Amino acid sequence: MKHGFGIAGIAGRMGRMLIEELAAAGAPLAGGIDRNGGVNDATLFADIAGLAAEAEVVIDFTHASSAREHARMLARAGTAWVLGTTGLSIEEEAEVAEAAKRIPVVYAPNFSPGVNLVLALAERMAAALPPAMYDAEIVEMHHRQKVDAPSGTAVGIGRAVARGRGVDLEAVKESGRDGHTGARKPGAIGFSAMRGGQVVGEHTLLFAAADEHIALTHRAFDRRVFASGAVRAALWVRGKPAGLYSMMDVLGMQTG
Ligand code: NAD
Repeated sequence: MKHGFGIAGIAGRMGRMLIEELAAAGAPLAGGIDRNGGVNDATLFADIAGLAAEAEVVIDFTHASSAREHARMLARAGTAWVLGTTGLSIEEEAEVAEAAKRIPVVYAPNFSPGVNLVLALAERMAAALPPAMYDAEIVEMHHRQKVDAPSGTAVGIGRAVARGRGVDLEAVKESGRDGHTGARKPGAIGFSAMRGGQVVGEHTLLFAAADEHIALTHRAFDRRVFASGAVRAALWVRGKPAGLYSMMDVLGMQTG
């Protein structure tokens, strides 16, 4: 009989905070998995299959390379999945979508309520501002340990802008400009990533026209905002039908 919440990546920065946030919410911890060993007296399972067999919901903040296996094992076990890992390839995201045909999955590049409001506003702004006049640029900064760029949140903001413009982000993305790049392509969505210090997460979406700039900035000061959001998602997703959900669904902020 499955009971409680599991944490994949329990010994990581997010994993440790998730233990505290589950406790604060009065939600039982079934245990976790981590390549770096366990945390205090939390039950450590040998692998994702073992954790999936015991937990009702697995909250996953690990590494993109784990996504494929986790998708298959959680779908097989019928265990709900809250996925916060970033840097997934298109193919890995397709595996997540495949799993979501059998289990409920909340997949969000960012679990903070503020960022999800930014995503909703980004889509509306992009729909209102003609791409031929307003150049969309996304600038982000994170701590020096971050392994993927641009951040999952930056990509999420880019996708929201692309949705608002009715285009595919992959077709218009300009990321990591260097050298003789040529002029900016009309309708491009640009990305720049800064890394340094211990910045938890800063994102700015800028619409730059010849005669005005409009910028939307979000700054996270404490990663607890992501952990408490992920726990909120885990409580919400329990007992939901199979499907791919976003943090907007959890917050009841769907745009449409
Ligand atoms: P971290 O490196 O501190 O922790 C990751 C942990 O996962 C490590 O302890 C590692 O040993 C473990 N791990 C990795 N692969 C594993 C596997 N296959 N099986 C078991 N354990 C495994 O990193 P972090 O700062 O906690 O971030 C983790 C992920 O979450 C990153 O992808 C990061 O970008 C993402 N993140 C997302 C949000 C969000 O709101 N969606 C917020 C913060 C971080």
